[in-house]
Amino acid sequence: LLTDSSPRERRAAAERVRAWAAERGWKAGPLNGSGLEFDRSLCVAGPRPTAGELAQLREIDGVAAVHWGQEALFRVTDAEVTAPVVHLADARFGKGDTSLIAGPCSVEDVDSMLALAQVLKRSGATAFRAGAYKPRTSTYQFQGQGQAGLEILAEVHAQTGLAVVTEVLEAAAVEQVAAVAQILQIGSRNMSNTSLLRAAGSVGLPVLLKRGMSATISEFLQAAEYLADSGCSRILLCERGLRHFDKETRNLLDLSSVPLLKTRTHLPVLVDPSHGVGRADLVQPMMLAAAAAGADGLLVEVHNDPQNSVSDAAQALSPQQFAETASTLRKLLASLDRRLTTAPDAEFSTPLC
Ligand code: PEP
Ligand code: MN
Repeated sequence: LLTDSSPRERRAAAERVRAWAAERGWKAGPLNGSGLEFDRSLCVAGPRPTAGELAQLREIDGVAAVHWGQEALFRVTDAEVTAPVVHLADARFGKGDTSLIAGPCSVEDVDSMLALAQVLKRSGATAFRAGAYKPRTSTYQFQGQGQAGLEILAEVHAQTGLAVVTEVLEAAAVEQVAAVAQILQIGSRNMSNTSLLRAAGSVGLPVLLKRGMSATISEFLQAAEYLADSGCSRILLCERGLRHFDKETRNLLDLSSVPLLKTRTHLPVLVDPSHGVGRADLVQPMMLAAAAAGADGLLVEVHNDPQNSVSDAAQALSPQQFAETASTLRKLLASLDRRLTTAPDAEFSTPLC
C-alpha cells in the first residue's frame, strides 16, 4: 500500500517499488489492473519477502504498508494511510457523515434565492447549489443568467454563510466562477473535457465532478485524475445516473457506484438523485437509498415553487419535502452510526480544506 499523498507523489513511490522489484527480477503492477493513480495499492509478483527485503521496502519513501496475501507484514503508521477529508466549513465530506447540498436547478431572482437558502439551511443543507451557467441540451432552453447569477450567489453566501456550489462550463470562465464559488461543479456533459478539468483543477478550489452520463467508473476516475494532476486534491465525485432505455425515469441512478468507488479511491462520493431519476416523487426515496449506500453527500434540487422552476421543474422538491426527507435521513443515518452534517454558523469561515 502506498502512502496517501498526491497522485504525482504516489506515482513516484510506485516507480521506486517497481525499480526495487525489477532488481530482483519481479514484476510490480496495479493490483486491480486499472493502472489508475488513485489506486493506492501495487502488487509485486514474487516470493514472500525475507526480513531483509521487508526492511528495504520499509525504507522506500511512500510505502505505507506491505501485505502478503491476507497477512499484514508491516504498516508504517495508521496516520500515514488515513485518507484525506474535504472540509468545507462544517461540511466534512468523506468521514462517514452525509452532507446536504441543495438549491434550485438555475439561479433565479435574488429574493427567492435568499428565502430558499435560509429555509434549506434550517433543514440541514450545508451548501447552496444553483447554476448561473447552465449546460442545456438545447440552445432554445434557458441558458442561465451568467454573471448576474453569480452575483446573486455571492449575496446568498454573504447572507447565509452557506457554501456556494456552481457549475463552470468552459476553461475561459473558471476564474470568473471561482471568484464566487466555494466549490466548482463540472457537469456530466463536461466530464471528459480535459482542458476544462485542467483549468478547474488548478484554481485551488474543491471540484465536484459529475459522472458522465455514459461514462464507466474507470473513465470517471481517469477524469478525476486530470483534476488531481492539475493540483486539485479536494475532489468530490458525484454519481448522477446513466443513460438508459426506459423513459419512466430520466436516468438510471447507479447507486452501486457509491460502494464501488469507495473500494477504488479515497475520494468522497456524492449522489445527485434529482438528475438521477428526474421525478420529484422518486427523489426522496433515492436520497435515503444513496445515503444508506454510503454517500458522503447528496446534491438535491429544491425550489420554492417547483412547478414554476425555470429549469428541471419535474424533479424539484418543495422546501417542505426536502425538510421531511432531511429529518428521515437523520434517523436513518443514526441507525448506521453516522450523522447528517449540520449547517455552518452564519459566520462563515474560509474553507479549511
Ligand atoms: C446540474 O447539476 O445542473 C446538471 C445539469 O446536471 P448534470 O451535469 O448531471 O446533467
Ligand atoms: Mn438541473
